[in-house]
Amino acid sequence: MGKGEGCQITLDQQLSLSCFTVFSSGPKMERKIAIIGAGVSGLLACKYTLENGFKPIVFEARSGIGGVWSQTIESTKLQTPKSFYQFSDFAWPNSVTETFPDHNKVMEYLQAYAAHFNLFPSIKFDTKVTSIDRLVPSDEDEHSWDLWGGTGKPFSSSGKWNVTVQEARNAYQVDFVILCIGRYSDLPNTPDFPMNKGPEVFDGKVLHSMNDDLAAELINGKRVTVIGFQKSAVDVAAEVANRNGHSFLNQISSCMFTVLPRNFYDRVQGGGLSLMKSRSFTFCKNGLVIDGETTPLVTDIVIFATGYKSDEKLKNIFKSTYFQKQITGSSAPLYRYWATVFP
Ligand SMILES: Cc1cc2nc3c(=O)[nH]c(=O)nc-3n(C[C@H](O)[C@H](O)[C@H](O)COP(=O)(O)OP(=O)(O)OC[C@H]3O[C@@H](n4cnc5c(N)ncnc54)[C@H](O)[C@@H]3O)c2cc1C
Repeated sequence: MGKGEGCQITLDQQLSLSCFTVFSSGPKMERKIAIIGAGVSGLLACKYTLENGFKPIVFEARSGIGGVWSQTIESTKLQTPKSFYQFSDFAWPNSVTETFPDHNKVMEYLQAYAAHFNLFPSIKFDTKVTSIDRLVPSDEDEHSWDLWGGTGKPFSSSGKWNVTVQEARNAYQVDFVILCIGRYSDLPNTPDFPMNKGPEVFDGKVLHSMNDDLAAELINGKRVTVIGFQKSAVDVAAEVANRNGHSFLNQISSCMFTVLPRNFYDRVQGGGLSLMKSRSFTFCKNGLVIDGETTPLVTDIVIFATGYKSDEKLKNIFKSTYFQKQITGSSAPLYRYWATVFP
């Protein structure tokens, strides 16, 4: 182990410990496990449950693995050094020499991991889970889930989970569900605006950084405003500037962990990108009214790079209001959900 490597936590350390403690005892093959999502977390959960003798079913809404890495804009690359972003038992290939590989290389790495551990046969692609619900015998109530299977062990002799998938007639019944649905996709977090001061009064186009149509033809020659100053925002702004747009960012964070795309500040100095700090803004017909500014900022496209409502996404997947409240209220019974890979 080299200098400074002692404290590195690999992608799977948290999850492997959890899977080991959770699943290391009891009859296995007959116990059914559903894993929802085939991003980094889902792949890890699949690998470790297979390794522990189970036959998990991984439900993935998209047609491929990789989660956020499968759908990024061109300039996205790792912001964590790759030595921190690797599986403990599957190193990056020597051919990847850069410290911050781009998203294509991350995807190749994840594909190689899934192939190496033969995960693909366990994954049902294009299968979106619409809800999960705990089925309990009539003499029990769903509150017994506070102690997992009623005993503090993951598997109980009674309650099962119903996993309902889109466009399927029957639900799947499983003994244990591992949610790996991610925090940075699906449900955009966009601000609310007072009546007649939101996107509805704007003649231009409003997008979120998750939109696929941030394509060249849309952006080329347009005045573009990007809202936010975290990872997605700077990536989107750099991409837009690369395509000859004009953009500004409205929140300059004082404590930035984001790795900036190549030549980001060159673009700022060259005028392709302008940065602007503003606490709040509203929409008008031809652009944005920035708090403290006298004239509106004329723009053709506004892109919200303002993140996702990850708690709500997690909440929505539970059919029962009891479980939904566990997400928004006390988090006590959900602590084991944190054994997933988040930055
Ligand atoms: C642009 C970007 C750059 C990042 N860079 C870094 C970095 O450098 N370092 C770092 O540590 N982290 C980074 N992250 C964080 C990144 O989210 C994690 O590193 C990791 O990839 C998350 O994996 P995940 O499996 O938890 O979630 P995701 O990758 O979001 O995967 C979730 C999967 O679940 C599927 N899914 C969701 N809901 C359902 C459903 N109902 N039914 C079926 N399937 C469903 C989705 O389709 C998706 O494939 C970055 C994130 C983004 C967005």
